Amino acid sequence: SMVSERQSLFPGLRDPGETEAIRFDERVLSYTDLAGVTANLAERIGSARCVAVWGTACPETCAAVVGALAAGAAVVPLNPKLGRRELAHIVADSSPELVLAASDFPAPEALDGIPVHHVDLEARGGELPEEPPEEDAALIVYTSGTTGPPKGVVLSRRAIRTNLDAVARAWEWTHRDVLVHALPLFHVHGLILGTLGPLRLGGSVRHLGKFSSRAVADELAGSATMLFGVPTMYHRLAEDAEQQPDIAESVGGARLLVSGSAPLPAVEHQRITRLTGQRVVERYGMSETIMNCGVRASGDRRPGYVGPPFDGVELKLVDEQDQEITVSDDETVGEILVRGSNLFTEYLNRPDATAEAFLDGWFRTGDVATRAADGYIRIVGRRATDIIKSGGYKIGAGEIENVLLEHPAVAEVAVTGEQDPDLGERIVAWVVPAAEEQVDEDALAEHVAGLLTPHKRPRVVRVLTELPRNEMGKVMKKALQS
Ligand code: ATP
Ligand code: MG
Repeated sequence: SMVSERQSLFPGLRDPGETEAIRFDERVLSYTDLAGVTANLAERIGSARCVAVWGTACPETCAAVVGALAAGAAVVPLNPKLGRRELAHIVADSSPELVLAASDFPAPEALDGIPVHHVDLEARGGELPEEPPEEDAALIVYTSGTTGPPKGVVLSRRAIRTNLDAVARAWEWTHRDVLVHALPLFHVHGLILGTLGPLRLGGSVRHLGKFSSRAVADELAGSATMLFGVPTMYHRLAEDAEQQPDIAESVGGARLLVSGSAPLPAVEHQRITRLTGQRVVERYGMSETIMNCGVRASGDRRPGYVGPPFDGVELKLVDEQDQEITVSDDETVGEILVRGSNLFTEYLNRPDATAEAFLDGWFRTGDVATRAADGYIRIVGRRATDIIKSGGYKIGAGEIENVLLEHPAVAEVAVTGEQDPDLGERIVAWVVPAAEEQVDEDALAEHVAGLLTPHKRPRVVRVLTELPRNEMGKVMKKALQS
């Protein structure tokens, strides 16, 4: 019926054809293949309520997630690089009844005692089972655990369906699009947006397994139309496009380049435009909310702006007293609160943390932003690590980072606050120098003081060979501060 078709997460699996769904090197799964494999997996999963998926970014892992969703189970995607203790915590917390493993991955110790099914892409099953109610848990995604033990974010089928449809409308994203994918499969970005998104639309996804500018360029020079990336990928694309004009030209042919998961430095946005003619679409999402905001395909692509909220997402800014900020300008900052069908259901087994995360039904993102007159959101940083209170001022780390990146001696930078007897906090710049450049502390302080108000200059500069980053390329500021 119309209703069940509309509410099916993957209509393309219910009526499959020979269109390519997933490609990884020479390995191709059509929608007919994927429907067969997932039906087989669904039969093996039976009535299990919770299924863990263990594997790298490969077609087996994609099929496992889709198969478990088709079976009506909640899926716990596991980062294959997790240590024994981290894995033990997640397994104890979510208690999966079985593990689906990509064939090249032996089950580690922490999964002992839980039945393991290896995914075989050649196996075929019969009919797909009926889809479960939309309020049921579809994914349990674990947070990075920056502030405590990782929390399991429970996302319903409805949240995923409605949010993917809103994003598709915003980006004019259809079954004709072919996505280049080089992200891990255990986060919202690579899993929901990058894998479930194309499969929901009946489009195709090209997995690279790992990022390389050359591979991305080759795909975009061929039939690929879109790239979903994190800022570190755009940094590498820009570096390589600078040296290799054919990479710049191929990337220039894309329909849509999208960046998210972390702030895209303005210099990087501008460099991509200068080299390829493309303007990157920025968007803002979280495990707990899937996608909140994004620049529309037809919208104005301004560096540093993640655009307006997607359809179905309500957003407001509040001040430190939790009072709503009603002015729209580029100066007034507040914490982002969101509400809508995109929101997670709860933190698994953590009613305390769930209650704390909400204010009158609005989810507290912990991110601080401004809202321009045209409704565009600009993320200033995270309340916990990016707002430095120095000399009576509240200073956003991102603005200083953007300015420091304009200095020729700076390749990468992270700005943090550090306790200071006079200032409360002093501004510290952690700098990775550009090749063959020397970092001069005074020169960098003067550079900032020349472009921003002088109290925003770094008081301390620390040189590093690289910044501590997680798998998504996010700078782990807590690691710098400890
Ligand atoms: P944890 O919650 O365990 O500390 P995390 O917040 O890094 O981990 P995610 O849910 O994957 O885990 O990331 C969401 C966060 O990423 C957002 O709250 C925001 O701070 C940041 N983020 C996402 N997109 C953008 C963007 N376009 N610009 C700036 N920051 C972004
Ligand atoms: Mg978070």
